[in-house]
Amino acid sequence: MTAPRIDRRRASALIAAAPLFGLAAPALAQARPRLVVVGGGFGGASAARTAADAGAAVTLVEPNETYVACPFSNEVIVGLRPMEKQRFGYQGLARRGVTLARGSATAVDPGRRRVTLDGGETLDYDRLVVAPGVDLNFEALPGYDEAAAERMPHAWKAGPQTLLLAKMLAAMEDGGTVVMSVPANPYRCPPGPYERASLIAGYLKANKPRSKIIVLDAKETFSKQSLFVEAWKALYPAHIEHVPLSAGGRVTSVDAAGGVLTTEFDTVKAAVGVVIPPQRAGAFARAIGVADKSGWCPIDPLTFESRLIPNIHVIGDAAIAGAMPKSAFSADQQARVAVHAALALAAGKPPPAAKLVNTCYSLAAPGYGFSIAGVYAARDGALAEVAGAGGISPVGASAETHAAEAAYAERWFDAITGRIFG
Ligand code: FAD
Repeated sequence: MTAPRIDRRRASALIAAAPLFGLAAPALAQARPRLVVVGGGFGGASAARTAADAGAAVTLVEPNETYVACPFSNEVIVGLRPMEKQRFGYQGLARRGVTLARGSATAVDPGRRRVTLDGGETLDYDRLVVAPGVDLNFEALPGYDEAAAERMPHAWKAGPQTLLLAKMLAAMEDGGTVVMSVPANPYRCPPGPYERASLIAGYLKANKPRSKIIVLDAKETFSKQSLFVEAWKALYPAHIEHVPLSAGGRVTSVDAAGGVLTTEFDTVKAAVGVVIPPQRAGAFARAIGVADKSGWCPIDPLTFESRLIPNIHVIGDAAIAGAMPKSAFSADQQARVAVHAALALAAGKPPPAAKLVNTCYSLAAPGYGFSIAGVYAARDGALAEVAGAGGISPVGASAETHAAEAAYAERWFDAITGRIFG
């Protein structure tokens, strides 16, 4: 699907600020509805902000004092960005009237509408928003558990893992091979592994020219593939090798101590191994019963209300959001739709219909960006892409266009984090 870049860009700029509601946002009932939000990432923090702005009494449950954002963390890995730029506090939300509950939510009593925290505290709600993000599934890939992740980092949750991978790359000798495994769909940030492969290839080309990165992929095709492949051919012909599923790319086990990844066809020795394992909804969602057998959470596409437990809305990476990718952009959009739906339902009103937007930027090198955008709406019980409304950057774009897209990416990150945490 291609659309003229500038038209699409203008459209994205217009609609990125908020989902498009078919009706005005609902008026609140006389009594202030009580919303409890579990998880202070892009989804949960945006939900808390949206609810506070709408006048609800909102409590945000989050164990960490500081949120560490994943978008742009691939740049941290290769030394292009300081980790400090990824960190965000919750004081801005507190200033807007959000009550902060520091801790982990452990249980829910759906009958009494009550959440329990690990410290024993309980919080009563009219509507609960659940946004715990993903868990790396340490039961899915033989040999890959939390201890193995200390030797072969995933760096798929930004924080110590990001810094560990950066350190390992910097310490690797020239001539060593970086091997990265990529899981089958669905997982957090579909184009993220390929952005990471690109930036690592760029780092190797500049700093360890006898090294390369091999990408072992459990998929045949991937997001923005034509754009990544174009960039790899132009920038890193000697520094990146992609092995798709049909060529034996699926990793079946790892030996982290030995530095070996085994695929259906081969064993590959890594100087630095990076394992992005299969994922599932965060443990809290699975513990309280809003996840199904797939490990993800089925939701109503209009309201994000759980299909399994009433009065609980699941947003962000944990939700099964149909055609919407698991991204920070999506999580923020879903948060706003879910909160307006929750407040309408709490007031006994029908939820407003909305269209949701996602734009995902990727960098193939500093100053070399491209993007994909989509618009989504409820159709036949799921979130489906609105035909003809999205677009992807063209193959063969000029250096100026790639530079502009890289700049848009930075602006997007500043805008979304500023709105949510500022
Ligand atoms: P998270 O952001 O993971 O937040 C979950 C929060 O819930 C955490 O703060 C956690 O502490 C908290 N939590 C978990 N359990 C509990 C509990 N029991 N009680 C209380 N709190 C709890 N997206 C983009 O849009 N653009 C990009 O360019 C982009 N780049 C990326 C690059 C990489 C390398 C990666 C890994 C991801 C990238 N993403 C990008 C994806 C994006 O980071 C995620 O989609 C987004 O963070 C999902 O938001 P979330 O709120 O669902 O989960």
